This record gives sequence, structure tokens and C-alpha cells, in this order.
Amino acid sequence: MNIQMQFSGLIILMLLLYFYNRQETVGLYTEKLFRRALNVTILCLILDIVSIVMITFQENFPLWLVKAECKSYLVTLLLNGYIALRYACADANSSERTKHFVKAAGVFTMGAGILIFALPMNLYREGRVVYSYGLSCMATYFGALALIVTTLFMVIKERKSINPKRHKAITLWMGVWMLAAFIQFLNSSLLLVGFASALGMVILFFELENPESNIDKKTGFFNSYAFLEYIKQRYRNNMESSLMLIALNDAYKELGSEQVDDVILEMARFLQLTQEKKAFKMDDKEFILVFENRESMDRAYHMIEQRFDRSWLETVQNPEGIMLQPYYLIIPSALKVGQNEKDMLSVLKYFRGHGLNIPERRVFVIDEESVNKKHAREEMLIEVVSAMHEDRTEVFFQPIYSTKKKKFVSAEALVRIRDVNGKIIPPGLFIPVAEETGLISKLGEIVFEKTCKFIKDNDIEQHGLEYIEVNLSVVQCESKLLSEIYQRIMEKYDIAPRLINLEITESASIVMKNNLLENMHNLMDYGVSFSLDDFGNGQSNLNYIVDMPVKIVKFDRDMTNSYFESDKAKLVLKATLHMVHEMGLKVVSEGVETKEQLDELERIGVDYIQGYYFSKPIDAISFMDFIKEHNQ
Ligand code: C2E
Ligand code: MG
Ligand code: MG
Repeated sequence: MNIQMQFSGLIILMLLLYFYNRQETVGLYTEKLFRRALNVTILCLILDIVSIVMITFQENFPLWLVKAECKSYLVTLLLNGYIALRYACADANSSERTKHFVKAAGVFTMGAGILIFALPMNLYREGRVVYSYGLSCMATYFGALALIVTTLFMVIKERKSINPKRHKAITLWMGVWMLAAFIQFLNSSLLLVGFASALGMVILFFELENPESNIDKKTGFFNSYAFLEYIKQRYRNNMESSLMLIALNDAYKELGSEQVDDVILEMARFLQLTQEKKAFKMDDKEFILVFENRESMDRAYHMIEQRFDRSWLETVQNPEGIMLQPYYLIIPSALKVGQNEKDMLSVLKYFRGHGLNIPERRVFVIDEESVNKKHAREEMLIEVVSAMHEDRTEVFFQPIYSTKKKKFVSAEALVRIRDVNGKIIPPGLFIPVAEETGLISKLGEIVFEKTCKFIKDNDIEQHGLEYIEVNLSVVQCESKLLSEIYQRIMEKYDIAPRLINLEITESASIVMKNNLLENMHNLMDYGVSFSLDDFGNGQSNLNYIVDMPVKIVKFDRDMTNSYFESDKAKLVLKATLHMVHEMGLKVVSEGVETKEQLDELERIGVDYIQGYYFSKPIDAISFMDFIKEHNQ
């Protein structure tokens, strides 16, 4: 009998089934379909073998039974085609159309199945060669062909939404089948189709459905690939999920790599104990737990939090172990955070990037509000980039008054962006975004260049202006190239460096401070002077004035205001003013809005006044008009 092929196919499938069942599966829809396809293919091969046996020994069975058996085999072939189609659709857009389409294919398969049973069938037997033929077989061929072609069509049409690996595997699977069916169609005695189904399963298993490929080898948790597939499925089916990402912030950086591995393993073992979750080990020493609802997540969170109160890796040599500070990102409701898994992941990535820079923030809850903030920031970023490209950035100037010379001797250059409708966007909205993304360096250069052009075009010294103050962001000072770039810009416009005063603010890190100092010294050698901005905003440090070679200290609006609100603040401002003067530096008071404030600050000896009392920041033309009018 011609059943060796079918037997080998069956053995292969049994092995696959064994390996498949050995591993835990994620719970994906495609896994369910694969299992179904595997079962149907096994059934198909068994029926195939039985039909060959029955045709060979047909005298021993009633003819209707032989035919019914052969027809059942044909129906399983068709069923396999139907499952393949559903498998292909599993990844494609879960639109209503796809759902209707799958339903229609189901009805078609059922119809074709009935037809297979209803149509006549002939049996052929000549020595060892046996097969069935006739209209019933034709119906199977055409039915299966229709399903296969539709599957291929589906895979090609939806190739953008189908995972490329799946795309390849399904195409190969269908290709093998078509080839086998074609050969069998030409030569009915070559019974290849059953075996080809088994081959298809092997392809699927190794390309896609091997549960091992979803498992992180070290921890036994599901891996990041499985996470993506799982979360995608939950979004597609509109299933709510609560997510918890646990990362070992900076804590693990002090550990050796072996210790890190041990900690991760110990954590994995512990996390395995939490209930009602799917646990994933991500690539960067992070775990993600997915829960079906918030309550389960909260319970798990409390349990995990408590565990971190105790130490890890306690050994005989090191009985105290290591204390770890985890970092949590929590998404109470995934469906509220994004429309699909891609949205959600980009949100997660964004906040992970941001969150990890804030060491004291250990739990960060991502909800609708935080997502809106992210969107607003992204929109602002687009706005800044396009404004820079389309030259919609402008520099406004705010006059600075000298109490000694009784005239305006300077101004602060302040950047503005005009949106496409011509509306001004204040820097408070876009400077933080520009700083975070590094765009501030380019933006700062643009402002500086425009200021230089302004100085050149207006011959400011002639109108009593001694210099213009330009803000420098901390981020800009980090770059060692800053001084060179700024010198080149001044040379380009032929600007005397004494006309430029750069405002710096306090920077936290030592490295930055060193780079800043290097830049400052280079520029000072060239002839540029510096001010210390934002003094008194709560973070200022007196040492900074000592360390930084500035000529001017700018008291910020809060400090100016508090002088008029509290006696203690009055004393602080006076003492600071005195001290700064003793150091040979000058003081600007910012945010002066009334005549009383001006008179009082002038009385106590503040050198320069900047504020709405004189003028808000105004565009270059208005500013020059203002100066010409007031500095006569
Ligand atoms: P800043 O450097 O401390 O600038 C002073 C800010 O105080 C300006 O706000 C100014 O309009 C505002 N101001 C001045 N006098 C008064 C007053 O009497 N009352 C009130 N309520 N406000 C007053 P602006 O232009 O919105 O700028 C805000 C901040 O944005 C600046 O603070 C500075 O840190 C940043 N910035 C502006 N332009 C640039 C730039 O070109 N580069 C960089 N890196 N930062 C800039
Ligand atoms: Mg400033
Ligand atoms: Mg300021």
C-alpha cells in the first residue's frame, strides 16, 4: 500500500504535537489556530491512511462506508484550507470587513463540504495503486484551491499589517500545498496532499509557532516578542489590560554582570508568584506584567513593593544581600492610553525614557492626562522644528534701564515663535521641549545670529545701547563647540564682542560646569561678557556667583516680588545686593512692574531694571523706536 508518505507525515506531526505541548503558550489566538490546524492535519492524515486501507480492502466493507470515509478525508483537507485562511486573517486588520470575510469563507467551506458528500465518487484500485476520483474529488480540489488562493490574496493584500515572518510562513505553507495538489491533480496515484499538509505544519512550527521562540531563555518568562503579539491581540479584541513595568533603575549599575543576572533570576522567581498575570521579560533588565484588570494589578503591586523592602541575593558570604530600588511604570488602563499597541508602546517608551532620568520618581502612572501631555509636547516639537525650517522664529527685545545713567543701556533678546496663523507662542511653551530634544542648540544659534544681525543693522551704540543680553541654555553650554560657533557668528556680522552679554543659568552637573567654564573663558578672552540669570528662583546657590566669572547677576522676578512682600526677603535681597557689589559685579532686577518698585530698587542701589513697567519684550522695530524715543 502507498501509505509510507502519510505515515512519515503522521510521525512528524506527533513529534510536533509533543514539542508543542511541552511548553507553556502565551494564550494567543494564533496559537489556538495552530493547535487546531495541527489536530485537523493529524485527523486528515489518519483518515487518509484509513481511506487507502479501505479502498485496498474494499470487499471487506460496505461501499457507502468506504466512500463516506474517503469523503471525510476530503472534508478535512478543506477544513485545513479554511483554518489557514483564518490564520492569515488573524494578523490582518481586525476590521468588520475581515470578520465578514472570514464568516463567508466558513459558509463556503461548509457548502463545499456538503457538496463533497453529495457528489458521486469513484474508487480506483490497480495493484498497490489506489485513489479516489470523480466529481466529489473535483469539488475538493476547487474548494481547497479557492481557499488557498484567497489566503494568498489576503496575505498579499494585507502584507503591511501582517508580521513579515507570518507572511513568509503562510506563503510557503500555501505554496507547498498548491504544488502537492497540482501534482496529485495531474497524477492521481501520487497521494501527496496529506503529506504536504504535514509539511505545512512543520513550516509553521519552525517559522512561527515554536513556543520556545516566545520564551526568554534565562528566566523562562515570555519574551518581548511574545509581549508585542499578546498586547496586540488584546487591543484587537478590545480587551482591557493593566500593565506594570518594573525596571531596576540605576540600582543595578553598581552590580557586576553576574550579580545582575542573579538578581534578575531571583526577581523572576518572585514575580512568578504573583497571581492573575502574564509575565514578560523585556530586553533591558525589565519585566512587564499584564493583568486583566486594575484590581489584580494593585494586589500584585503591593506584594512586589513589600518584597523590595527586603534585600535580594542574600548568601552565606553576604548575609545582608543587596537592597534594590525598582522603578515602576504603571498603565491602569491600556485602552485609554492608545488606540492600538503601537500607540501604547510609544507612550511607554516615551515615559520610560523620561522617567528613568528622574531618579526620585519611583512610580509613574501613565493615564490619559500624561498621554495628552505627551501629545502636546510632540505637537510643540513639530511646531519648533517647522518654525526653524520656515524661519518663523523671531527675536523680541526687552529694554534694560540703568539707574545710574538714567537711560536704557541694554536689552534682553528673547525668542518667539510665530505659528502658521501668525500667533505668537511664548518661550515657556517650547523652550523646555527644545531643551529636552537638543533642538535648543540650533534654536539658540538662530537667536544669536538674528541678534547679531539686529545689532549690525541698527548700529545700537549710536543710540546709547552698550550691549545686548542673549540667553544661553544649559544644554548649549555642554557642547565644547559653542564658543567657536558663537565667535564665527560674531565675525560673520562683524560684531564687536563687547556688544554681547550672554546669560547663563546654574547647571547641576560638574561635567557640564567644566564645559561651561571652558566655553566662558574662550568667549571672555574674545571679549564677550556674562550674566548669571534666574538668581533667586529657589535653586540658586551663592557659590555659583563665586565660581562663575560673570559681570552681572540678574535677580529674577520672584526675588524682586518677594522684596515687596516680606521683611525677611527684603533683608535677603539687600544683603545679596551688597555682597554682589562687594564682588565688583552689577545687578539687574527683573520683573519690575510698578513705579514704586522701580523707585525703591533704585534707592537701594540696584544697577539695572528690567520689567513691564518700562516695556514688555517687543519686536525689533518697536524696540528701536522705543529706544530712540527714550534715549535722546
Ligand atoms: P528669562 O531669561 O528669565 O527672561 C525673562 C522673562 O521674564 C521673559 O519671559 C520676560 O518677558 C519676562 N518678564 C520680564 N519682565 C517682566 C515683568 O515685569 N513681569 C512679568 N510677568 N514677566 C516679565 P519670556 O520672554 O516669556 O521668556 C521666558 C524664558 O524663556 C526666559 O526667562 C528664558 O529662560 C527663556 N528664553 C527666552 N528666550 C530664550 C532664548 O533665546 N534662548 C534660551 N535658551 N532661552 C530663552
Ligand atoms: Mg534671561
Ligand atoms: Mg531671567
